[in-house]
Amino acid sequence: MQFHKSESAFFVFMAVVLVAGGLVVYSYHAIPAGMPAAGDLPIDLALLKNLLLASGVLVAVALFFGAFFIYPQIRGQAREEVKLREMTQSLSARSETLKHAALTDPLTGMHNRRYFDEALEAYLQEFGRIDRPVGLMVFDLDHFKQVNDTHGHDVGDEVLRTVGRCLKEMTRYHDVVARLGGEEFAVVAPNMDMDGMVRLADRIRDGIAALPILAGNVRLRITSSVGLALWDGKESAEEFFRRADQQLYHAKKEGRNRVSA
Ligand code: GH3
Ligand code: MG
Ligand code: MG
Repeated sequence: MQFHKSESAFFVFMAVVLVAGGLVVYSYHAIPAGMPAAGDLPIDLALLKNLLLASGVLVAVALFFGAFFIYPQIRGQAREEVKLREMTQSLSARSETLKHAALTDPLTGMHNRRYFDEALEAYLQEFGRIDRPVGLMVFDLDHFKQVNDTHGHDVGDEVLRTVGRCLKEMTRYHDVVARLGGEEFAVVAPNMDMDGMVRLADRIRDGIAALPILAGNVRLRITSSVGLALWDGKESAEEFFRRADQQLYHAKKEGRNRVSA
């Protein structure tokens, strides 16, 4: 059994009172029975005996109250405190889980749109401060509706998960990779110039097209269109994103399965 600090302190206190009680009892019995008459000694032994008796009774009352009234209260409070601490811990664990869930896409386990928006703002601030470039890639799978219509929603979901894994594997650890919604993904790639971005986006586009995704016996070939933009150092996150999105629109218009910058 584990005791709370206040309980342990109380036990020490009771032990001290008990020892004091023992000393009182010992002293009481140490006084000789045949008492000399008052005045023969500098102290009145009868009075002393009565005082010791009274002290003994007080100690006994203190022990009784301690054991039956004070201790149950201390114990109750200690238990309540433990319960409260457990509740606080489980609540904060729960809020961590909720926070994680609020920023995670449930289908792919990737960062979601909300996380992406916050991360993009933070990256622009941080990399703007040290005057380093920040690139943005927006991916959209081509004719994805057809995948669902032809092979079913479950196959569509599997495609999204596989593409998500591919994006994660082909980017660097400090790139932010997120599923923005539907069949649209984004990568924030800091510290990379436009040439590097185009090369990386093309490699990822090839990687997605080469993914071995099966629908029954049929191997699907998933292509994607990509819009790129390099932060100009002044525009807001929304303006920056809009520019990349316009490039994506351009890539679609030009015939899909391509990168537009
Ligand atoms: P485009 O080449 O112009 O991008 O054509 P698209 O068919 O990819 O684009 P469209 O916007 O017409 O269709 C997107 C489809 O993505 C429609 C929707 O059913 C599907 N989709 C969105 N979210 C999910 C999802 O979570 N799971 C699955 N399986 N499909 C999804
Ligand atoms: Mg699409
Ligand atoms: Mg789309």
